[in-house]
Amino acid sequence: MVPPEWGNSSEEVVVRLQEMIQRGELNHGDRLPPERDLAKLLGVSRPTLRAGIRSLAAVGILQSKQGSGTFVVEAEKSPTLDSSSLRMMTALHGFTSAEMFEARIALEMSIAGLAAERATSEQMTLMSEEIAGMFATLDEPEQFLVHDMNFHQTVAATSGNRILTSLMNMVAKILFEARSKTVKRATDLKESAEMHRNIYRAICERSSEAARATMRDHLLMAQKAQLQEVKNENPATSNEKNKISKSKKSS
Ligand SMILES: [Zn+2]
Repeated sequence: MVPPEWGNSSEEVVVRLQEMIQRGELNHGDRLPPERDLAKLLGVSRPTLRAGIRSLAAVGILQSKQGSGTFVVEAEKSPTLDSSSLRMMTALHGFTSAEMFEARIALEMSIAGLAAERATSEQMTLMSEEIAGMFATLDEPEQFLVHDMNFHQTVAATSGNRILTSLMNMVAKILFEARSKTVKRATDLKESAEMHRNIYRAICERSSEAARATMRDHLLMAQKAQLQEVKNENPATSNEKNKISKSKKSS
């Protein structure tokens, strides 16, 4: 039998910390008290406290920063969902790359449509900077991918919908991680940069329909590119290309 104090106590940590945030005892951006003090205050062991903190970090309420402690997330920052639960479900249920792209396309078409309605000139400038970054790094695929990722995050922030944004980030993060392993074999970066520019232009012209369509075209092309890169990496296992986890070389 597990002693009762080991039972639900990490869940209790979650509840107690959420209450402290709701009551304003902990505010956005605050650092949590030292682990030893907090464990004592909540009457739990340090491993239990850590488990509770991990759960809250997974849902984007707390954020651990290497070397400086654990913080309550900043209110103005766009909330993010940790990708680990989706990654776990992918491993358990064998979600395919095709399903992941389909989900991403559904989310990002909505995001692009809203961005076209809501973009400020500052946000348009940020997008154009990322596109300039893409054209400047056509020969450096890894750097290109960083600008690519930043562009999508800027469009998401521009949509003004934090729920769509956090869902998009959760899905996109997994796809970008997979892409970062194969992107050095990319052959289409110029075309990709141009497609991002088409999305940007549609947003600047405030055409929701065009923003949705150009986003869909871009992601369908990205999906094709990613499959091709996996195939080029290891032609013998290309029939496995649809399994996300199988594309990992390091596993
Ligand atoms: Zn992109």
